[in-house]
Amino acid sequence: MFKTENHTKLLTDDKDFLEVEYPVMEHFYTIQGEGAHTGRASYFIRTAGCDVNCWWCDVKDSWEEEGHPKLTVGELVDAAKESGAPFVVITGGEPLLHDLLPLTLGLKSAGLQVHIETSGSSPLSGQLDWITLSPKRFKKPTEEVFAYVDELKVVVLTNKDLKWAEENAEKCPAGTRLLLQPEWETPKSIDLIVDYVKENPEWGISLQTHKFLKVP
Ligand code: SF4
Repeated sequence: MFKTENHTKLLTDDKDFLEVEYPVMEHFYTIQGEGAHTGRASYFIRTAGCDVNCWWCDVKDSWEEEGHPKLTVGELVDAAKESGAPFVVITGGEPLLHDLLPLTLGLKSAGLQVHIETSGSSPLSGQLDWITLSPKRFKKPTEEVFAYVDELKVVVLTNKDLKWAEENAEKCPAGTRLLLQPEWETPKSIDLIVDYVKENPEWGISLQTHKFLKVP
């Protein structure tokens, strides 16, 4: 778990933090489709804005903040709470481009667990119960993030990505879930991953099950 230290002022300032706005591409109640929490009901908040620019990105509409509505913490917390989801997944875009302290405090105050999916390339912020690091070679993670990683999920297209996965795993705490995920449009990555996991059983495979099942 990661916690920004000095949040007392936010909690005592007449709850002004509920008025803080974030650019949001979409937010919806769904099933977590990939990673360690696959199959669990969860509320997704996809912030807009990303400076990583992976060429194979499947949410390129999230790269620019402009053109997306700005929603307050209060609006997002209400929607997540009303859904009945036990936890919220903050994703992007790159969610750490934004100071997540107000949003995560709002969600935590409403009794929700907060997960994040991040490239780790911008500083950590907020109160985060589960950190999924999906590091990208195009914009490397900060060194700070590794101490807090719960799940390392590396998208694999070629052998270079397996090497990249190993380099990142060396920096993660003992007990981190280590997952390799085939890139959806690159079928040969499946063979690479299957062979690798058979030889390195500390790693597992993450699949984008929501794409198989067509869960939005
Ligand atoms: S970090 Fe995520 S949102 Fe940003 S370009 Fe890469 S895959 Fe897309």
